[in-house]
Amino acid sequence: RAKHDGRNNYAFYTESLTQESAAKLKLQSALHDALSINAFHLVYQPKISFKTGKPVAFEALLRWNDPVLGNISPAVFIPLAEKIGLIQDIGNWVLKTACKQAQSWREQGVHFGRVAVNVASQQLQRRSFVAEVADILEQTGLPANCLELEVTESGMMSDQLLVSQYLAKLGNMGIELSIDDFGTGYSSLSYLKKLPIHKLKIDQSFVAGLPLDTHNTAIAKAIIAMGHALNLRVVAEGVETQAQVDFLKGCGCDEVQGYFYSRPQLPENLSEFLLQH
Ligand code: C2E
Ligand code: MG
Ligand code: MG
Ligand code: MG
Repeated sequence: RAKHDGRNNYAFYTESLTQESAAKLKLQSALHDALSINAFHLVYQPKISFKTGKPVAFEALLRWNDPVLGNISPAVFIPLAEKIGLIQDIGNWVLKTACKQAQSWREQGVHFGRVAVNVASQQLQRRSFVAEVADILEQTGLPANCLELEVTESGMMSDQLLVSQYLAKLGNMGIELSIDDFGTGYSSLSYLKKLPIHKLKIDQSFVAGLPLDTHNTAIAKAIIAMGHALNLRVVAEGVETQAQVDFLKGCGCDEVQGYFYSRPQLPENLSEFLLQH
């Protein structure tokens, strides 16, 4: 393996480097098998509307429990999956599983609003993505207006014209589109105005420390004002305290999500939350 992966790198191999790359290879090969051995599952975290106090969506978050390596964070394995070409398969599994879950909620009469699915840059840039989403909706029976897609700024910046055409198609189907982790990427404001999206999700790094942190206070206020000026709704993620809730509500933020309301949970453990709301 090392021979193929590390062209001309032999000279740089030290004991610790070798160990590090051995660990990386282990992780990669485990990730290759994860789908086929059913090592993935989804947890769901609600987004609450300030207007109604009710959940308007549940975001699906991917969890990987490897039998040998244990739990690995998506912040680690999603970038790896992108790097080694597994994100399409994994992404489609997530989309399908989340749509199936949502359809089963519908059949049980559970009011979940929409199910929100994270989309990696590489998925969005694929020519076949729109057709794949349409296929999955058809297969699972979920109406498009029960789905939300969260895309990142980096996902939209690379091939702007093409990606905005894809987004327009998805939006025309009735799917809601959000920009995730807003403020951490490089979207230009003029570009934002042209994109067919509905919502901005303020990254949790700007929500931390509200309302005492003066920088984050300014940034959060500015994103909310700008979002509203562009006719977009604004969501805050990573909300953990009552003080953050009060501040965001006071600034006119539209939706909130975070441990303050609920941690991401298995669908079977969400019934209590759903009963309370
Ligand atoms: P994200 O989409 O921005 O999701 C928010 C992350 O913050 C989640 O971490 C969530 O569990 C965590 N979180 C939610 N509320 C709070 C809070 O109040 N406080 C704190 N400290 N954290 C909170 P998670 O589940 O580890 O996911 C990390 C990232 O991995 C996600 O960030 C997303 O970018 C990516 N990801 C997760 N699942 C998927 C997936 O199915 N597909 C893709 N492409 N990316 C995914
Ligand atoms: Mg997200
Ligand atoms: Mg986010
Ligand atoms: Mg984030």
